[in-house]
Amino acid sequence: MKLDLKLTGCRAITMDPARPAAHTIGIWQGRIAGLDEQVADLPATETVDLGNAVVLPGFIDAHTHLAWNGRSRRTVDVTGLTTAAQVRERLSGAPGEGWIEASGYDRRIMDRPLTAADLDPVTGDRPLYLADISGHACVVNSAVLNQLPEITSDGWLTENEQLAARSLRLPYSIEEITADLHESARRVLAEGVTMCAEAGIGAGLIASSPLEAAAYQRAQLPIRVQLMVSAYVLGEVAADPADGIARAIDLGLHTGFGDDMLSLGAMKLWTDGGMIARTAALSEPYAGTGNIGQLAESEEFMRAAIIDGHHAGWQLAIHAIGDRAIDFALDAVTEAQRQRPRADARHRIEHCGLVRPDQLGRIAALGLIPVVQPTFLFSYGDDYSVIMGEERAPWMYRGRSFLDHGITVAGSSDRPVADGAPLRAIEFMVRRRSSGGRAVGPDEAITVEEAIRAYTLGSAYACRKEDVLGSITPSKLADLVVLGDDPRTSDAIADIPVLATMVGGTLLPQR
Ligand SMILES: [Zn+2]
Repeated sequence: MKLDLKLTGCRAITMDPARPAAHTIGIWQGRIAGLDEQVADLPATETVDLGNAVVLPGFIDAHTHLAWNGRSRRTVDVTGLTTAAQVRERLSGAPGEGWIEASGYDRRIMDRPLTAADLDPVTGDRPLYLADISGHACVVNSAVLNQLPEITSDGWLTENEQLAARSLRLPYSIEEITADLHESARRVLAEGVTMCAEAGIGAGLIASSPLEAAAYQRAQLPIRVQLMVSAYVLGEVAADPADGIARAIDLGLHTGFGDDMLSLGAMKLWTDGGMIARTAALSEPYAGTGNIGQLAESEEFMRAAIIDGHHAGWQLAIHAIGDRAIDFALDAVTEAQRQRPRADARHRIEHCGLVRPDQLGRIAALGLIPVVQPTFLFSYGDDYSVIMGEERAPWMYRGRSFLDHGITVAGSSDRPVADGAPLRAIEFMVRRRSSGGRAVGPDEAITVEEAIRAYTLGSAYACRKEDVLGSITPSKLADLVVLGDDPRTSDAIADIPVLATMVGGTLLPQR
């Protein structure tokens, strides 16, 4: 046997308990052929000496929005702006004609909230959609409000009203989406990510087109992608009643869909909003207010989606951030499992942001996987700690408590809502320090190895890919990330350079 590639001079942290370290990695036909003495005597077409660099399994981001993230390359960015005058000046340079799309608005840092009247003077007749960084709100101008006579607003729209405004702009073309995806793939590779799970295509707030799956198929990205399908595309199907499947999907999928690079994952559904927009559904109000957030849809709609999706064989990816939404998800999954027990259904809770102590045991008993975004707390932990109050702040985006309950934790970013770099997230999981230096739930700190595990084997498990990804193990796919330092001994994990990534045995240079 002749290897395609032999990597020597590695300090590999394999995440495989059977063989935790390796110095030589043999690769053949896109897979790990063997380690150290298993491949030492085999010839190779190419040998690369990594000069004692640290090698990890490629990072898997279990919840991300690739098209949305890549779209920022062609939207006006107002990140960090704090006055109406600054935003107006930035928007006045918007190129092209027709819709003006802007992003990076953060209502919390403004000297006062923007209104349509602030924006109309610079946008004129062109409709404007200015996305809030929460993903759960936006500001629009009068050209948009005029098309939404049923909505009374000064320009700030959240949740379903936001969706109504968004729907006026959508869909994007397959060509636009494809270009956005390539931009996003370039960015995530630079951060060591070799696979992403795209959290909800086809419909809903973060959708780009009903034909999104076709865009992914056409794009042929250099990273692996797993698509979660929005529960909004569940439609009634006339199947044999004995199948017990009342609703299924019609995404326009066609021959050849799904392989090692692109596959179909969970069904995504939403049960509440988010903490930035104060729409995550809580059982007790946000500190100092009477607001308890909101459920995303009627309970009947959400329960039917969970139960029908479970019956139809889907893995469910249930967006639930507040503890009240998590209660709802736990109850609905319990009911679905009672109606039709499914071993290893492996349902996920996306975000799983505020978990009361009494909910931990239920999450464990149902085998649910929290797909967490540690970087939310790095970026927004100061704000979130205030709005949750002293008792609840340590319950946010847990780590230690999940692991101690035997719960598998999957790492993810929800980019572009927060910084996507896995090394930044891993550092947060270990240190639990916000960007402002605040300790956020310090008792939830986990070890570096446990944090790496969340971003490799844990996220692979959440994507049902742990048999082929997530560790450097012979016969698994050869997805690796090469780092300039060892996170286990580094004082600044987030700053460790990503030297290279490998997807399926192909080394990809950093661009
Ligand atoms: Zn998301």
